[in-house]
Amino acid sequence: MRLPQSGAGFTLHGAGVSGGIAIGYAHLVSAARLEVAHYDIAPEAIEEEVSRFDDAIAEVRGELIGLQANVSATAPAEMSAFLNLNLMILDDAQLSRVPRELIRSRGCNAEWALTQQMELLAQQFEQIEDAYLRERKNDIVQVVERVLKAMLGTGHAPAAPSHEENVIVVAHDLSPADMILFKQHQFAGFATDLGGVTSHTAIVARSLNIPAIVGLHHARGLIRENELLIVDGREGVLIVNPDRQVLAEFRLRQGQLDIERQKLKSLRSTPSTTLDGVAIELQANIELPQDVHAAIEAGAAGIGLFRSEFVFLNRDDLPSEDEQFEAYRKVAEAMDGRPVTIRTLDLGADKTVNGADRAGPNPALGLRAIRFCLAEPQMFLAQLRAILRSSIHGKVRILVPMLAHVHEIEQAMTAIAQAKEQLDDLGVPYDHGIKVGGMIEIPAAALSLGIFVKKLDFLSIGTNDLTQYTLAIDRSDDAVAHLYDPLHPAVLHLIAQTIRVGEKAGRPVAVCGEMAGDLAATRLLLAFGLREFSMHPAQLLTIKQQVLRTNMSQARGIASRILRSDDPAKCLQLLGRLND
Ligand code: PEP
Ligand code: MG
Repeated sequence: MRLPQSGAGFTLHGAGVSGGIAIGYAHLVSAARLEVAHYDIAPEAIEEEVSRFDDAIAEVRGELIGLQANVSATAPAEMSAFLNLNLMILDDAQLSRVPRELIRSRGCNAEWALTQQMELLAQQFEQIEDAYLRERKNDIVQVVERVLKAMLGTGHAPAAPSHEENVIVVAHDLSPADMILFKQHQFAGFATDLGGVTSHTAIVARSLNIPAIVGLHHARGLIRENELLIVDGREGVLIVNPDRQVLAEFRLRQGQLDIERQKLKSLRSTPSTTLDGVAIELQANIELPQDVHAAIEAGAAGIGLFRSEFVFLNRDDLPSEDEQFEAYRKVAEAMDGRPVTIRTLDLGADKTVNGADRAGPNPALGLRAIRFCLAEPQMFLAQLRAILRSSIHGKVRILVPMLAHVHEIEQAMTAIAQAKEQLDDLGVPYDHGIKVGGMIEIPAAALSLGIFVKKLDFLSIGTNDLTQYTLAIDRSDDAVAHLYDPLHPAVLHLIAQTIRVGEKAGRPVAVCGEMAGDLAATRLLLAFGLREFSMHPAQLLTIKQQVLRTNMSQARGIASRILRSDDPAKCLQLLGRLND
């Protein structure tokens, strides 16, 4: 058993991402690669470790030289220049020699030494003013990744610490793709320096249903490997090296939370109806097909949002149409006739696939989601065929993200018709009446909804992006996280208006952003007229409990006062009353 180290205790504050309390030991993770573990090398094995590093460098050098020799005469000149640059980076003493010294001086494993050095170089590059040179940081990361792959191929490196259930991952930053890899592990909690609460990294952390905090700023630099930590994911507090009394207190709270969670399970098959008898549909958000089990476990009435792009992350190639079909079929079958809403690819911004990184200078405003799909028609058609094929295995619906222009939905409809024709030509069956909905997550769509509802079967409000784009706050940037506020009167107006217009036009409206799983917003959304909520399975029973305790006619009165006020302080006060 690992004992707590003797350093003095201290506390860090960030933004709590998912509830609960975790108590465990710090495992520092490099920003570059999750597979990179940090472990000590026995003094007698140090030279062997240095040779392992040298062998990996030699292997990658061989690979690059081989690639260079095979560059055809017709290939663009940049290809050869790119390989040359990679070779130069690899052979630079900063990458090929300094890590050897680190292995010897610190007695650490080669992967760790290499990524430590890479982070240092990356930081130096970030300071460079010249944009071209600054961009070269990415080349360094790519070369390092090649070397890491070569080392992992040698089979010496352990992928993760052995007692994962006691381990709290501490990182400077994690991408959504990094985070999805954690689904294969059983870590106790997460703490990161960067990130906002509705960033996709935080969303995936929430779906893991373990305590997590983002935006801690200096955790990665201040915490040492193996230090004892308490993660309070509700309050966003991280306690490092707590004393006995604090530890005992948090263990007690942890026990109480477990009991509350167990109690909630008894609501699993209770119909979700308000005190005055209004039936509410509670559905689940998933990222990967295997998440469907958690949705069923929580008693979800359907899948309100399948973020299909996660199937595309952490791989070198794009999934084939058949692979995609299999993923969708699994979910459709598992849900056994309950609706499964598959969102078409929302790639771009913070979720990119290898070889298709076209995010541009301002990724959140760039070629993302439906914009990206319309620019890549073959990729889009393959996904649409896969969704259509899966539609005979359950009740599948198509959801198109990030609509701002009517012509985007028109073009998406044309693509769907084309995909149908292609399947017809091959005699492949699909649901001819498949429903197509649109995400309302850009203010432009919410403000000109009349024209959208005519072309769509249903609407789903993406409150994460709707807040981001209404307030001009990058949802993944912790520097402005304090300004990110889904309860801002402007955002609330757009939500209420979307629900109202949808209802009038006879189009079902759901909320599938993080707000749907936020207890503080449940009554307000109910009072706005919302009847469908989609959230992470872990939040579903808590929200159901709130629905069961809500009196709609009472809630409506306060909600309309909230909507009439544009004073945020007054709104908060009224919200407090609503939630009493
Ligand atoms: C949203 O924007 O609220 C949403 C549900 O989509 P995502 O979080 O994947 O952008
Ligand atoms: Mg969105």
